[in-house]
Amino acid sequence: MTPIIVANWKMNPKTFKQAELLFANLAKQFFLASKADIVICPPMIFLPVLKSKAPQLKNFFWGAQNCHWERFGAYTGEISADLLKNAGCRYVIIGHSERREYLKETDEMINWKIQAAFKAGLRSILCVGEKEGEEMALTVEKQIRSGLKNVSSDAAKNLLIAYEPVWAIGSGQPCSPDDAMGAALFIKRVLTNLYDRRLAEEIKIIYGGSVDVQNAAAYFIEAKMDGLLVGGVSLMAKEFGRILKSIQQLYP
Ligand code: PEP
Repeated sequence: MTPIIVANWKMNPKTFKQAELLFANLAKQFFLASKADIVICPPMIFLPVLKSKAPQLKNFFWGAQNCHWERFGAYTGEISADLLKNAGCRYVIIGHSERREYLKETDEMINWKIQAAFKAGLRSILCVGEKEGEEMALTVEKQIRSGLKNVSSDAAKNLLIAYEPVWAIGSGQPCSPDDAMGAALFIKRVLTNLYDRRLAEEIKIIYGGSVDVQNAAAYFIEAKMDGLLVGGVSLMAKEFGRILKSIQQLYP
């Protein structure tokens, strides 16, 4: 399976100039990981400018950090999956814990968004993960079952699941590769029950939460993850490049 590295810039950087510089510096590192798919998810307002500077690489894609579930209409401030697709996105992050927490996104809304993304031809990256003190299995199973309610097998083929324990995001306290592997195996079991084993095997499981240069490779070697969702370090071009390099070495 082709590994995938997804960069979530969140609401950064502060200016167009900084965004252009950051992207230019990141793009210089892309050659370090010709064997991985690389997805950059900037704030959407930067996309048209950045797109004109994007390298023509088969393994590079744009992603969005969110979408609305309706296709158009009176939804002030929102962006539809169709608009994202038109703007050049291939992926969309759905149900990030920051949106669940600060924007009060529910599993039901997340489910609608996944359906909308599929209809628009986008691949969804469904984020799941427990908060501090919650039991991983209980939270993750509920999030997956509700998020994928009535999601067809065809739509599920376009899905990735990002296991992101909330306590690990931006905290500098990553989940151990052992625990991440436990979560990934559990997610595969839930997907097998929802669909079937073959489809569950096809759905990539990626890890996110304080990924850095030191720990990135361990999520592939020890936790058998198919990829990473990188927040903070995706704003540091050199470090991001070192992550790409460490992954490349694993895929001779
Ligand atoms: C994230 O935003 O999904 C994330 C994993 O952030 P960080 O890498 O900064 O923990």
